[in-house]
Amino acid sequence: AKSLGRNGFQLFDAELRDEIQTRARLGNELRAAIANDELTLHFQPLYTMPGNRICACEALTRWQHPVQGMIPPDQFIGLAEENGLIHDLGEWVLRAACREAATWPEHLKVAVNVSPIQLRNPRFVDIVESALQQAGLEPARLEIEITENIFVQNSATNRDILQKLGEMGCGIVLDDFGTGYSSLGYLRSFRFQKIKIDRSFVRELPEKGASSIIQAIINLAHGMDIPITAEGVETQDQWAQLNALGCNQVQGFLLGRPQPADSIRQHIQCAAEM
Ligand code: C2E
Ligand code: CA
Ligand code: CA
Ligand code: CA
Repeated sequence: AKSLGRNGFQLFDAELRDEIQTRARLGNELRAAIANDELTLHFQPLYTMPGNRICACEALTRWQHPVQGMIPPDQFIGLAEENGLIHDLGEWVLRAACREAATWPEHLKVAVNVSPIQLRNPRFVDIVESALQQAGLEPARLEIEITENIFVQNSATNRDILQKLGEMGCGIVLDDFGTGYSSLGYLRSFRFQKIKIDRSFVRELPEKGASSIIQAIINLAHGMDIPITAEGVETQDQWAQLNALGCNQVQGFLLGRPQPADSIRQHIQCAAEM
């Protein structure tokens, strides 16, 4: 039993070593990918509810790996946050998203995901400003999506940065609401332009627990005059329930998947001609 245990540990050590090596290699490849333009943005449309008019698109990053093919963000954003690459990656995303949005009709906004770690960069506000300016995009057309984890540390600096971006005219959106670890108190200390209900709640509809939670979130937000977006809407039934609950915007495979920039441009064109 003793030797088995030792083998067990050896196996574990070997696996851990492999894991660490793999992550280090992936980290180096990601650094090169940012420099070599291997990253690309897909865009997913957001629609008004109940009118079903396209009002914004969310930029979602993809890594076109020369060997492994398309790598989804879940597999490299966390890594980029650990090794600090998220700063360069995030700046690339902001600039590329603003450039693309500048080619859309003026009523369409672009939503960009920002990691709480990016706010630690003292240049962050300048980067956003420069991305908007270079693209010639009105600040009001940029929505910055951030998760409530930003408030776990209850940092005054983070609040100040969000405040500054808001004063510049950008929309600050609370993403994945209901999944974080912070209390609700922060909602009083910062005014979000919009709150996004996480897909994990929408997915459970029509289960009663899920619809109660969604109703409570919508009541809470509307009580503060904040509109609500639901993400991950896949079925007509989910759409109808969210509509009945008073949801203001929807996003999901039912209405539109994330797609490359030229395909979303065609999509926007068709919507405008309807
Ligand atoms: P998120 O911000 O919650 O984005 C929504 C995710 O849900 C996207 O996954 C989207 O493809 C997926 N989705 C949308 N509608 C549906 C639906 O109806 N059904 C299902 N099953 N899924 C749906 P994606 O593109 O894989 O992105 C995953 C996460 O990676 C994002 O979650 C976001 O947190 C992060 N992410 C993506 N791009 C960036 C980025 O540029 N910067 C940062 N910091 N994070 C990013
Ligand atoms: Ca998001
Ligand atoms: Ca989300
Ligand atoms: Ca989510």
